[in-house]
Amino acid sequence: MTDTLGWGLIGASTIAAEWMIGAIRAQGDSDVVAVTSSSAERGAAYAREHGIGRACETVGALLADPAVDIVYISTTNESHMQHTLAAAAAGKHVLCEKPLALTLADARRMVGACAAAGVRMGTNHHLRNAATHRAIRDAVLNGRIGTPIAARVFHAVHLPPHLQTWRVKSAEAGGGVILDITVHDADTLRFVLDDEPEHVVAEAQRGGMAEGGLEDAAMAVVRFRSGVIAQVHEAFTIGHAGTGFEVHGSEGSIIARDVMTQRPVGTVVLRNADGETPLPYTPDNLYERSVRCFNEAVRGRGAPAATGEDGVRSLALALAVREAAARGTRVAVEE
Ligand code: NDP
Repeated sequence: MTDTLGWGLIGASTIAAEWMIGAIRAQGDSDVVAVTSSSAERGAAYAREHGIGRACETVGALLADPAVDIVYISTTNESHMQHTLAAAAAGKHVLCEKPLALTLADARRMVGACAAAGVRMGTNHHLRNAATHRAIRDAVLNGRIGTPIAARVFHAVHLPPHLQTWRVKSAEAGGGVILDITVHDADTLRFVLDDEPEHVVAEAQRGGMAEGGLEDAAMAVVRFRSGVIAQVHEAFTIGHAGTGFEVHGSEGSIIARDVMTQRPVGTVVLRNADGETPLPYTPDNLYERSVRCFNEAVRGRGAPAATGEDGVRSLALALAVREAAARGTRVAVEE
């Protein structure tokens, strides 16, 4: 490994273009050295557009490149497993997009393969990198709201037209709002509450945007081991609700607004018998923090912000929400 960590992109994706390429380059100790796409033409165009030195025609060619230390996998969801297994076999560290896979068994297999190969694995759950959510977690864990009792997550947004592709059309690619957004909310709740979910009840909705039986909205109630109950609402179909995250405890409430987002924005307020106090935070680019933690982990300093195991656990909750909605009964979240 050289002083500069070389990242290879598996997937000529929107998320890499909009956030991750910039986040990797912002570090100072890492760069994007290669990209691969299932279309050689699109891969070459993507490399040109983003100033990436090498467009590889196959995943194998990218993985054989000694300049690649880390792969960032942002292909559609059904491909994450095969790409992670191949990367691990090639001895590359893996930062994989969420949901890790379409089934828990596959996600566990990915974590196992990376562990067996001795490479680091992370899941790109960006929200736990938000300074807002980190401030909320600190306040909750430091007892500022007393004993946590309940949480509410408002994450109903309007999916932008340029993303209304496989997410709302293809079950095979792992579409649907639950695998797209509920999995993030699952991870954020687990992180902020420092707790694990036990059971779920849920409803899913087909509101006209998603096709082929996919849901484009969901609501769920999750019971955590501590007894906290959390209410979550995710949607692709609602343009003007705004987002929010709340934790309510015996001595106070934390009310955060506009925090379920990719951008380092939002407000966080502690409300208790003394009134309202803004919780200060220093805005930090969420994706840059994710990459920074991953680079550090690869260098043997600390852990990824969200590990592969976090990706498995957060997927387990999302899959339980989907199953609870489909069956109309309470579902236990797999350990
Ligand atoms: P995209 O649809 O932009 O990219 C996914 C794949 O679709 C690409 O790998 C590419 O395949 C193919 N593709 C992209 N553009 C085109 C095109 N114009 N024509 C044909 N195929 C195309 O998906 P996203 O970037 O939105 O999502 C990718 C992954 O990242 C998903 O797993 C998603 O869940 C996750 N994600 C995570 C976010 C986060 O904040 N953590 C935010 C957004 C997404 P190929 O590589 O073969 O060219």
